Amino acid sequence: MSKSIAINAGSSSLKFQLLEMPEETVVAKGLVERIGMEDAIFTISYGEDQEYKVVEPILNHEVAVEKLLEQLVALEIIASFDEITGVGHRVVAGGELFKDSALVDDEVIKQVEELAEFAPLHNKAEAIGMKAFKKVLPDITSVAVFDTSFHTSMPKKAYLYSVPMEYYTEFKARKYGAHGTSHRFVARRAAEMLGKPLEELKIITCHLGNGASITAVDGGKSVDTSMGFSPLAGLTMGTRCGDIDASLVGFLMNKLNITDINEFVDILNHKSGLLGLSGVSSDMRDVETAAAEGNEDAQVALEIFVDRVQKYIGQYVAVMNGVDAIVFTAGIGENSKETRRDVINGLTWFGCAIDEERNNTRKEAIISPEGAKVAVLNIPTNEEVEIARDIERLRK
Ligand code: ADP
Repeated sequence: MSKSIAINAGSSSLKFQLLEMPEETVVAKGLVERIGMEDAIFTISYGEDQEYKVVEPILNHEVAVEKLLEQLVALEIIASFDEITGVGHRVVAGGELFKDSALVDDEVIKQVEELAEFAPLHNKAEAIGMKAFKKVLPDITSVAVFDTSFHTSMPKKAYLYSVPMEYYTEFKARKYGAHGTSHRFVARRAAEMLGKPLEELKIITCHLGNGASITAVDGGKSVDTSMGFSPLAGLTMGTRCGDIDASLVGFLMNKLNITDINEFVDILNHKSGLLGLSGVSSDMRDVETAAAEGNEDAQVALEIFVDRVQKYIGQYVAVMNGVDAIVFTAGIGENSKETRRDVINGLTWFGCAIDEERNNTRKEAIISPEGAKVAVLNIPTNEEVEIARDIERLRK
């Protein structure tokens, strides 16, 4: 039996999913939270609705990895460590260096650490996670999967900002995008569902979760994406502002007597988006409920959310000079039939349409009417499966 473990390490957390490969079935998943504390929380769900949960001291990521592996054996989820043949680490920033997932060695770990200037909190934690697994399971295939890799196919005209060229050549200041693993997974799946070669399709993938981004996928390659140098750009998100006029930063810092730019960027990252607009919540369900109860700020927050998605789709129709399919995925994309309907109903000029009955789903489905010019699909994303597939693909 061959199992792979997909890891998503944060500064104080470690999420994991254990998959049986090549079947791609989930055997167990869980989370270690509050790493570094005496009262860290460790949860595993497995089997048929079984759950293991303890609060105990877990002082660093290495201890988290050791405990996680020991517990998989103790709960008889695996008979021994030998069953785990691969580990895949999600990494936020791969810069221009990582155009594909990579086998982890000391050099790759060093490069991930060096790329931390593009994602300070994330890359450092991810490198720690890689080292921890190397120490405990040194012989298994270990792969780093980058959020940015899928977007390294973007042409210069898409990834350069219109600022002096030396900011790019000297500092690598450019658009990198994010959510690449998800966009890649759903684009490929869309082609399968439509029974057409990915190479022949123009697809717009809408990853609408708490973080949200849209990608233009032409012939299987990302040619533009809505997130930018960082995940702050693009759409209106749960707490992130998305695109704004840079002049607003100076103007508001003056008005608010804020002198530290980091303090203001923090507002744009954590207090803006649906939360800032509605004053209710960053969670789409809460905003939808408040809007239905007559809260006007929540109503306008929903309108803005949909408006930005429509505008990016419009842009990407122009970027690719056409579109064959639009895909919705992630928390909002997969679950909010209202959002999907409202977005598509504003794009009928492009030949987009929604079939209300087909749209009444949370599962994988084609939700446009039979024979529609543009196929609209709902595809639950699965970044863990994509990571596990990369482990298989790169296995030595
Ligand atoms: P992330 O992985 O970026 O944290 P998710 O992909 O889990 O986020 O998406 C979270 C978002 O999905 C939240 O805004 C949540 O309200 C929304 N969501 C989940 N279920 C529904 C639903 N039934 N209707 C509308 N929105 C939903």
